Amino acid sequence: MSGNPVPVEIKQSGVRELRISWNDGQVNDFDVVELRRSCRCAACVDEITGSQILQPSQVGEEVRPQTIRQVGNYAIQVNWSDGHTSGIFTFDYLRQIAQGQVVPPPNGAGAEPGIGSEGTHGKQGGGCGDSSCGCG
Ligand SMILES: [Zn+2]
Repeated sequence: MSGNPVPVEIKQSGVRELRISWNDGQVNDFDVVELRRSCRCAACVDEITGSQILQPSQVGEEVRPQTIRQVGNYAIQVNWSDGHTSGIFTFDYLRQIAQGQVVPPPNGAGAEPGIGSEGTHGKQGGGCGDSSCGCG
């Protein structure tokens, strides 16, 4: 077991900030509301499809962690003031959030229809030939 950073200190550093100090010297401040919205438990994210069940709007700005306890040597489990207690954040996931690798999807993530495919309009030599279309 080496290479995986683990928290040496977890504390509330502000009204809605959670500060985690890691054993490799890194210190991260987490917005607790964003953290709550980033929950990936079975109640918040569909285990099969990976799509977000929890809507960010369902999480109020006033949500706060009530108790935080370490789970084994790989994660923390947070009891939230909104009654949600099944959320477990692995250290690995926390580091990803801290590095901005994980952005909680806004609304309807993945519903974006084919970015990069601009359709066929205008590609086949001067539009579709219908003057009312407007594509030319
Ligand atoms: Zn959850």
